[in-house]
Amino acid sequence: MKPPPRSAAGYDVAPMSTAAAETESRGSRPMVVMHEVRKVYRAGLIETEALAGISVTIERGEFVAIMGPSGSGKTSFLSVAGLLDDFQSGSYLLDGEDVRDLPDRQLSRMRNEKLGFIFQSFNLIADLDVYDNIDVPLRYRRMPAPERERRIERVLAGLGLTARMRHVPGQLSGGQQQRVAIARALVGSPQLLLADEPTGNLDSASARLIMDELERINSEENMTIVMVTHDAELAARAHRILHILDGRIIDPKAAHPLQAFP
Ligand code: ADP
Ligand code: MG
Repeated sequence: MKPPPRSAAGYDVAPMSTAAAETESRGSRPMVVMHEVRKVYRAGLIETEALAGISVTIERGEFVAIMGPSGSGKTSFLSVAGLLDDFQSGSYLLDGEDVRDLPDRQLSRMRNEKLGFIFQSFNLIADLDVYDNIDVPLRYRRMPAPERERRIERVLAGLGLTARMRHVPGQLSGGQQQRVAIARALVGSPQLLLADEPTGNLDSASARLIMDELERINSEENMTIVMVTHDAELAARAHRILHILDGRIIDPKAAHPLQAFP
């Protein structure tokens, strides 16, 4: 397999720059740059090409919706983008850093510090109350208690959850549980929020409220958001919609994949 192309963005910026230069360069460099990413799942003799050459750039501060039929590769795309899963070929620069061959320990650190995740099924810990659920990622970071407390109180207030902080997930509605999951994703101040059908288990009124929150977070905090959804009405509220079919990004208006014309 040939090594991934080495883009200047991945190497020129980081090592020797001062903090100021780092901040300045961050302003312009894209959040996500994927080039021809392929991902294959192997189960025994069966191979499934979940991503068949994805090339995409997502700018800082963008709100991107992802649509596509079931099995088209949407979750696989988020898993690769979120460093939860590896890929077989192509290149991926996350925040200017080539993640292809990073050791696991460094990948987990990037995941914890730069990324936030929201899932369809909320994935809260049933035994922990709202406050302690939100505390989990901060404890992983070994953040000092006063700083954790300050951050948790801020996201609780921001999402209107302060009065519910001693409730356990089972005492909350689906919409409230998803707000807790958003709070947990945001508490570490990620740069990129990845959401896999975050409104899939909600009624349409609660879904719109979750979308309102995501829009607010995107515009107020300039947070980059990538959200998979089946809901065309919600997707239309994003800055841009990426359509995925058979592991490729397609232009639904064109008869051919975008990659046909480099
Ligand atoms: P979507 O989220 O769009 O429904 P996925 O990314 O979950 O699609 O799946 C893309 C393809 O990869 C499907 O054909 C699916 O069956 C396959 N796939 C996903 N996860 C696995 C896995 N862990 N093992 C084997 N095949 C998988
Ligand atoms: Mg999926």
